[in-house]
Amino acid sequence: MSKIIEPDYLVHFKCIGGDCEDSCCIGWDVDIDQKTYESYKNVSDLRMKKQFDKYIYENDWITDPNVDFAKVELTQDKKCPFLNADKLCIIQKHLGEKYLSNVCTYYPRTVNKVNGMYELTLSPSCPEAARLILLNPDAMKMHEVEKPGKFPIITFDVDQKSKQYQKTLVAYFSEVRTICLDTMMHSYSPIEKRMHDLAEWVDRLQKLHNQRQTHQTPEVLLKFRNKEFDPGIFTSRTLKDYSDNMVQLLLPVDSETYTMFAEEASRGDFELGETIYSSYFSEKRHILDNYFVNLMVKNLFPFTEADQVWDAYMMLFTRFAIIKVQLIGIAGFRGELTDETVVAYIQSFSKVIEHHRTFVEKAVSHQKKNGFSKLAFIESAL
Ligand code: SF4
Repeated sequence: MSKIIEPDYLVHFKCIGGDCEDSCCIGWDVDIDQKTYESYKNVSDLRMKKQFDKYIYENDWITDPNVDFAKVELTQDKKCPFLNADKLCIIQKHLGEKYLSNVCTYYPRTVNKVNGMYELTLSPSCPEAARLILLNPDAMKMHEVEKPGKFPIITFDVDQKSKQYQKTLVAYFSEVRTICLDTMMHSYSPIEKRMHDLAEWVDRLQKLHNQRQTHQTPEVLLKFRNKEFDPGIFTSRTLKDYSDNMVQLLLPVDSETYTMFAEEASRGDFELGETIYSSYFSEKRHILDNYFVNLMVKNLFPFTEADQVWDAYMMLFTRFAIIKVQLIGIAGFRGELTDETVVAYIQSFSKVIEHHRTFVEKAVSHQKKNGFSKLAFIESAL
């Protein structure tokens, strides 16, 4: 048995298979781990063996044999060829669940190991997971469970006491993470204020790292007080321009849903949208809170998404800017915002951004080149 920490929403998750409106078997590379690949080579079902020989090929760029030893060649319309007309997996249907690859078995779950404890979260790129994460105000309460078995894919495994992390910020992993999560969970202040407070924390941490003074982290965390900061009531032109810039780096994408939302967002009446957005989120603040807290837990914020903690913050801020500006545009285009629209938008955006091969790299370099990657810029945008 393994001890696991997970958000409450996870208890209710079950893949809805053929009823799914944006199946994970459409639009994405399908990875096959080495063990599953070998089981396909030895399968006795001749019909399935023929299909495996036709569609599965060994990967030239393996990052982890437990993940992407081989790949499935998608059809021209970017579907997994093992998906039947009822949107059900024929590998699972004819051979059983144990023939599914690690990625197919575990998606949309992410498993991390932090100081010996497993953490499980879901990705909102799955429509069913998105509904569970975003719609329930209490979805991000955490609990501890014991589950049998080992996890074949552990995305991040961190032990802050490990020698390799001495004299780095990772040596204070839990302390830093707790401060960041606490800041984002203070839902009585506007999310713009929390984004700003987080920027101040991470900016300070980045400076400690740059000055090789990470041993001062506990002291700084203890003494640090955020500056008074009043976010603007209206969405700044700076935030809108920044979001438009970043969306240009993201597009074009395979997702028809996200492409449609991006198009609506660019055509919507911004002033009207802003009024609708403010009124909708004054009632439903938990949607964005849950999205960001889930993302921060899943990505071990601010440690894993980029090489530097400040760059990881910029990626969080980038998501905030795009989501806010595009939802305002969509509200201005549709004349309303509903739970269905907001969840479908965030789900399609997550599917695009979380699996974009080059976005983080392109975005970080663009931010640095254009002077966006600074605390002063964040203050001017919020
Ligand atoms: S996206 Fe989620 S609900 Fe849809 S098929 Fe995949 S795991 Fe199931």
